[in-house]
This record gives sequence, structure tokens and C-alpha cells, in this order.
Amino acid sequence: MNVALPREHWQNWSGYVSARPLSLRQPTELEQLGDLIKSSPGPVRFVGTGHSFTPLVQSQGTILSLDHFDALVSHDPAALQSRIGAGIEIGALTRKLHRIGQALPNMGDIDKQTFGGALATSTHGSGIGLGAYPTQLRAMQIVDGRGVVREFNSGDHFDEMAAMGASLGVFGGVTEVTIQNILPYRLHRHRWAQCIKEVLDQFESMMTAHRSSEFYYIPFSGQAIFLSSDITDAPISTRPPQKDDDGVVTLRRLRTFLLRFPWLRARLIGSAISRLAGEDYVGEWLDVYASERNVKFNEMEYHVPFEEGAATVRKIISLLENDFPHVYFPLEVRVVAPDEIWLSPFYQRASCSIAIHHDAAEDPQPFFRAAEKIFLAHGGRPHWGKMHNLKAKELSTLYPRWADAMAVRRDMDPDNRFVTPYIAGLLGMEL
Ligand SMILES: Cc1cc2nc3c(=O)[nH]c(=O)nc-3n(C[C@H](O)[C@H](O)[C@H](O)COP(=O)(O)OP(=O)(O)OC[C@H]3O[C@@H](n4cnc5c(N)ncnc54)[C@H](O)[C@@H]3O)c2cc1C
Repeated sequence: MNVALPREHWQNWSGYVSARPLSLRQPTELEQLGDLIKSSPGPVRFVGTGHSFTPLVQSQGTILSLDHFDALVSHDPAALQSRIGAGIEIGALTRKLHRIGQALPNMGDIDKQTFGGALATSTHGSGIGLGAYPTQLRAMQIVDGRGVVREFNSGDHFDEMAAMGASLGVFGGVTEVTIQNILPYRLHRHRWAQCIKEVLDQFESMMTAHRSSEFYYIPFSGQAIFLSSDITDAPISTRPPQKDDDGVVTLRRLRTFLLRFPWLRARLIGSAISRLAGEDYVGEWLDVYASERNVKFNEMEYHVPFEEGAATVRKIISLLENDFPHVYFPLEVRVVAPDEIWLSPFYQRASCSIAIHHDAAEDPQPFFRAAEKIFLAHGGRPHWGKMHNLKAKELSTLYPRWADAMAVRRDMDPDNRFVTPYIAGLLGMEL
């Protein structure tokens, strides 16, 4: 039985992207999914939890949610692999994995996305030796553009797995995946404030000194909040209450009331940072990575080669502080290991990911367009799920295996069922 969703309107997490599709459906079985892909009004797009900022999900035709495909299907305790429904939310997945003695090697900032959505955009956390989610893929079940269920695994189908690992949802609906996990572990999380000049002067050593290193730069403060995580056997201690949302609200107030008094704004930000920064605790892996994000924003994130990281961050800070004084959201800087996935922004290069954020109620484009020029000048590849303005002409030059990935796409979706005007622009197709 297909369950019609009780809504005619879809919008993403930040509210920036919306759609009025003819049909919004949640198939419950493979055969129904195949029928919907074949016969519902096109174009057909898949949706996870709508946490992408780009119009990847938007369609005037049909939007299909695969959230009924959310089971822990099976697991192999010896190989530490599990077969999961791709529609499962990452937070729910972490709890199921922990119960069977398995763990994700790394996670991003939040655990609200679906695993399928995280794969599709190469969602990542931080760690110079830690890859993005698609690096965990070992096998996938996917329903193609003609509604046919197809199975691939990394042993027999190396090229297809490399092509579809970061899929943008253009190859088909991913229903099940087998993922490589590790044994559960504890993390020692440490968070402190440090002068941004020191952090950038020692960028390479600071970003590689820990299993996971990342930092936020607080605009107009000269200060970074640095976070490190390392595996430990130490006993669990209490995680301090999360204050990130309160911190952002404070930064917004200071921006609003003190825009014309930059010296006072900087001074008060400094005292807010010292209240926010201190954190030093040990937690189970699934309780450490993710935070609540309740203050809505829009985001652009580019992945530049690791060695370009410090120079790029310096230029973005200078741009923000000289030309965009109304921006108050912190910059987020992470590092990610290289991989072999053709459409992954981390393809064959260690990367520094630099994210800029903008109040969801204000127009992000002037700041984002100016920053994008800097990211591109440093060889950046955009996060597929975060705002960017690139089309196939530019994207194809950033991805050495672009043409090969497009050939696999044509095989999976010969009738272009998954191609909206936005997707056509990304892929360089005439509609
Ligand atoms: C508050 C917040 C924090 C975030 N933190 C991070 C972070 O730390 N690191 C990071 O890298 N990104 C981060 N993101 C971005 C986010 O992880 C990605 O945009 C991710 O793709 C969202 O997953 P979703 O389930 O919401 O997918 P959606 O946004 O709903 O869809 C994304 C893409 O996946 C496709 N898709 C979804 N499910 C399937 C499926 N089963 N089969 C085929 N295609 C599918 C869709 O068609 C679409 O192309 C964050 C976003 C927000 C809003």
C-alpha cells in the first residue's frame, strides 16, 4: 500500500528551497517504488529529511520519500558490516549499530539526515584520516529509472560503485546499502578558544594532531573555537549542556545592536566566546559528534586542497570582516581524507572544508557569491548539498572521472526520469 503524504507542499530545512509537486509519496515496498518511478508524473526526485540547501530534491512532478526503507536488515559481526535501509535517519542508525557492537567511524555535525541523503551529497565530518560517508559503502540496492531493482557491490562492480557512491539522487532510488563499520569506541572531546592567527599559522600541525580536528572562527573576534576528538579508554563523563544555539543568538543580538560600534561588538563577542568555549569530556562515539542546530541558516561549503586551507580561510575572514559586517554566523573549518568516488568532492585529494553560514531570514547571495570566487581561485569543489552557483561546464573540469560517471548515469536512467531543470544544469543536459 502506498501512503499519500498529508501535504502538497515541500520545503527544505532552512525554507530556502520549496516545491509544489503533483505527487509526494512514501512507498513501502520495492515493487511499489519501481511502479512509482515508472508511472508517476516526472521528473521524479528522492528526498531524505530535506537538509540540503541546494534544489536537489525540488520537482514539479513527483517527490519520493524512502523513509519506510529504514531497517537494520542484517549484520556480519566478524566483518563489522551491516546492511541497512538507506532511508534510516543517522541518529536512529547509530543507536541500532551500537546495540549490535558496531559503530560509524565518523559523523558530521548533526544526525538528522538519512543515510541515503548523506551518501548522495558526500556528507562528511572532520579528520585528516577519516573519509566522508560514501567511503563506508560496500554494496547497494538501487531502483533505476525504469523501475528495475539492481544490486551492486564493490568486489564485482568497482566502476558502478565508484560512480554512484556520491549519487546526487540521479542514478536511482537507493533502498539498501551494506556499510563497513568499526568497533564501538569512546571519544575524548576537548574544546577551547584560541587566537585565529595562531591556529592559521600552525594550520597543518593543528589539523592533523588529532583523530578529528576542526574549528569555528567567530567573526570580528580574532578568536577560534577549536575542537579535537581522540579515541580513549577513559571513563565516561558528563557532556556539558549544548550552548551553540544560544551562542549564535548572542552573536545575532550583538550584530543587530552594535553594527555601528565595531569595537564594542568585538569586545562583547570576546566575553561570549570565553563562556562558550570550555568543554572537556569523554562520551560514547554516538553521543559526541552531533549537536542540536535550531537556529535556521543557509550555508555554502567548499572543499579546497588541504594545503590551500589556511590561505583560503584568511581571505574569507578578510572578505567577511571588510565587506559584510552584518554576517555573524561562525565559519566552520574541517579536514577530510581523500577517496576514490568519482563524484565525491574529496576524490583523490585530502581536503579542507570551509563552510560559511548566513541568517536564513536574510539574503545570503551577495556574501556567498563573493566568497565563491575565493573558493574557486583556490581549487575548491562545492559540497553538493550546500549552496553554490556552478553548472556542468565548471563542474566537469573539477572531476576527472566526470564523463565516466555520466555514462553510468545514462545506463541507470536512459529516459531521464530523475532530471529536473536544476539537475539538467548540473549535469549539462538539454531538456
Ligand atoms: C543543520 C545542518 C547541518 C549539516 N551538517 C553537515 C555536516 O556536518 N557535514 C556535511 O557534509 N553536511 C552537512 N549538512 C548537509 C547535509 O548532510 C546534506 O545536505 C545531506 O544530503 C542531507 O541529507 P537528507 O537526508 O536531508 O537528504 P535530502 O537533503 O533530502 O536529499 C539530498 C540528496 O539525496 C538524495 N537522496 C536522498 N535519499 C536518497 C535515496 N534513498 N536514494 C537516492 N537518493 C537519495 C536526494 O534526491 C538529494 O539529491 C548539514 C545540513 C544541515 C541543514
